[in-house]
Amino acid sequence: MRSALSHAPNLLSMKKELLFTPGPTPIPPEALLAMAQPIDYHRSDTAVTLIKDVLEKLKHVFQTENDILFLTSSGTGAMEGAVANLLSREDKVIVIQSGKFGERWNDICTAYGVEVILIDVTWGDSVEPQIVEALLTEHPDVKAVFATLCETSTGALHDIEALAGLTRVRPTLLVVDAVSALAADDLQMDNWGVDVVVSCSQKGLMTPPGLAFAALNQRAWDTVKCSNLPKYYLDFRKAHQSGLEGSVPYTPAITLLTALQCALNRICAEDIRDTIARHSRLAIATRSAVKALGLPLFAISPANTLTSIRLPTEIDGKAFINLMRDRYGITYAGGQSQLSGKIVRIAHLGWMNENDVIVAISAFERGLVEIGYEVPLGAGVTAAQEVFKCSRGEK
Ligand code: PMP
Repeated sequence: MRSALSHAPNLLSMKKELLFTPGPTPIPPEALLAMAQPIDYHRSDTAVTLIKDVLEKLKHVFQTENDILFLTSSGTGAMEGAVANLLSREDKVIVIQSGKFGERWNDICTAYGVEVILIDVTWGDSVEPQIVEALLTEHPDVKAVFATLCETSTGALHDIEALAGLTRVRPTLLVVDAVSALAADDLQMDNWGVDVVVSCSQKGLMTPPGLAFAALNQRAWDTVKCSNLPKYYLDFRKAHQSGLEGSVPYTPAITLLTALQCALNRICAEDIRDTIARHSRLAIATRSAVKALGLPLFAISPANTLTSIRLPTEIDGKAFINLMRDRYGITYAGGQSQLSGKIVRIAHLGWMNENDVIVAISAFERGLVEIGYEVPLGAGVTAAQEVFKCSRGEK
């Protein structure tokens, strides 16, 4: 093994930074330009029109007719808001924890003092719906199941459609964290009967961090009416009512809303099925490339959002991530918590196309060789190209 040359100079003559992290994701130029315009007063007529337009267009991405509400916060704000607005002190909930973000549901529910029945799934795996079903049968009084569409820390996709099949025939709500996977992995809120979906701006929505969203169906709103947990800034009813009027209870990140409008114009220009199909194609190509390089995927059921790759034990994952950033200007995400240094996460999320995947993979190959792990240069790129060639014209 050669040592990681993390202090060596950038290998490219003009440094160009490329982001392959599962949030923040690259931002389209018109959204960047919109943010450079003089700032608007958030109670002006144009702001009212902007807020109404953004909230209407978000329905397309959430695949719902339900109203969307927004908060000026990161995604965790909408997660906390879901707990604070839906639950009451004496409630019992099921939390599916298969990584860092399932853990967050558990942390929030615990912080609010509700009783948590924890389903602890091995990191990299996805929950088996039968386990949820058995617990729901054993505990018919469970108020809500908290799940994650794509567990970003592992890259695993959960079968939300199957979970919704269990909850919609019971008085139990299904609350889904779609923070990373919205617009990348399919989530048919209305068709599947998902009660609550939360997400945020800096992932599939191609906007800087700072806005969080929630969609609630009627069942969920009826539950909100009975909630007795404390809430103020995160009060969903206030945010909802204001949003309907194109208004806000508190000063919003108006600059981000202008960027989001541009990003949503792009997303709404195509069918959401096509948006998801594009993410799926990029994911299949990335996985195919990784396999061609002889490396194992980490997630058993990988999402379209990102690909997690288990690194050979002789590679120091942190050194590899640093090398890629410092010498190639390429930012991948490393592992979190127990996966620190052990996996690399390559996102293909938001404003990404086939060329981006080719760049991400070719740099990955070079980096591996550079760090002293021999892979056949070009094998991953060829595998990805083959996927793109075969799927040309497919939706
Ligand atoms: N849930 C998931 C699935 C995520 O990927 C993230 C962010 N990586 C969060 C929750 C938390 O979002 P934020 O950092 O915007 O609060």
